[in-house]
Amino acid sequence: MTKQNAVTRGTYDEVMLPIYAPADFIPVRGQGSRVWDQNGTEYVDFAGGIAVLALGHCHPALIAALKAQSESLWHVSNIFTNEPALILAQKLIKHTFAERVFFANSGAEANEAAFKLARHYALTRHHPYKTKIIAFHHGFHGRTLFTVSVGGQPKYADGFGPKPADIIHVPFNDLDAVKAVMDDHTCAVVLEPVQGEGGITAATPAFMQGLRELCDKHQALLVFDEVQSGMGRSGKLFAYMDYGIEPDILTTAKALGGGFPISAMLTKQDIAQVMVPGTHGTTYGGNPLACAVGNAAFDLINDPALLAGVNERHQWFADALQSLNSTFGAFAEIRGKGLLIGAELAGIYRDQSKTLLGLAAKNGLMLLNAGTNVLRFTPSLIIEKADVDEGMKRLAKTLSDFREMQ
Ligand SMILES: *Cc1c(COP(=O)(O)O)cnc(C)c1O
Repeated sequence: MTKQNAVTRGTYDEVMLPIYAPADFIPVRGQGSRVWDQNGTEYVDFAGGIAVLALGHCHPALIAALKAQSESLWHVSNIFTNEPALILAQKLIKHTFAERVFFANSGAEANEAAFKLARHYALTRHHPYKTKIIAFHHGFHGRTLFTVSVGGQPKYADGFGPKPADIIHVPFNDLDAVKAVMDDHTCAVVLEPVQGEGGITAATPAFMQGLRELCDKHQALLVFDEVQSGMGRSGKLFAYMDYGIEPDILTTAKALGGGFPISAMLTKQDIAQVMVPGTHGTTYGGNPLACAVGNAAFDLINDPALLAGVNERHQWFADALQSLNSTFGAFAEIRGKGLLIGAELAGIYRDQSKTLLGLAAKNGLMLLNAGTNVLRFTPSLIIEKADVDEGMKRLAKTLSDFREMQ
């Protein structure tokens, strides 16, 4: 790189829309669960690109799939179909409740499609007033105006003018609160089986089963946003598989492409049928490059040994965090499923997640938060023990550094 073209973290503030506050270093290379920055400094990656890098950085099978596809067909649009998309749809159908698939490029787009489908189904099959969507406090569904309005954090949805109407938010895991607002005008109940951005909170089995019954009673659709909890993250292929019930619509993204942008909305044939050519669409959705990588990722993730490994790794993290907690008293609770883990901060660490993330980076650890008071761990589903051990050493140093600053 010539000096003239050199970019630094300072360049970010000069050229980018200031909606993020990225870390001080710029990653340039990744391998497995390690990353290197512009200066050659090495980091352990407990963030996994926010639950995207299910197979770590630069997995050889994903590289091979991307290379092979890039030499045959990149894009054809949805005026034509393509083999990788059809094959990935077949796999998703074979291994889930679903009978029909729609591909898009991001979680928000898959959710946008899901909410439009739920509304359209209710209006087409039932009556024009069946438009109410019930969603949950602290839920997160993406940043388009519809998805951010269904999300349960008003601060993200305010300030953009009129919002889509008839969306009601109630407390998560509170079935009575749902019962109080549920009626025959309800078209959908929307939730993350494990809330991610909202603080890593898993739905209780009684709540999930109760929602299924309520939806059946009122002919409403049950929509699971598994953008974060899906594709092996929870220790099952999808988190709903732990609850003995099925949704009517499910969305998945993040880990689906292992780092290549792709998302999918899954549903049943009867529901899909209300959509006809022209009802909805996207230019890139289901593009051959994304689906080729998705196929390679799916084959690796949908493997009993890999999924068992996720639960084994959950224990590595839980044990290490408990042990740190006995030294530092840093956590009020350690929770979550599989490799979607939250450590709620306590004592002097309370509400200090942002500061801790900065300190962690200085100690060579890429870490996430979920709100101000929860540290979030969403590493590669195949992270090695040595990487977990080294990352936990750096987390211990981080907690110790913070304590010394007080
Ligand atoms: C990340 C996320 C989204 C949004 O996905 P994008 O790809 O950023 O649009 C939606 N729902 C959940 C549960 C998520 O974690």
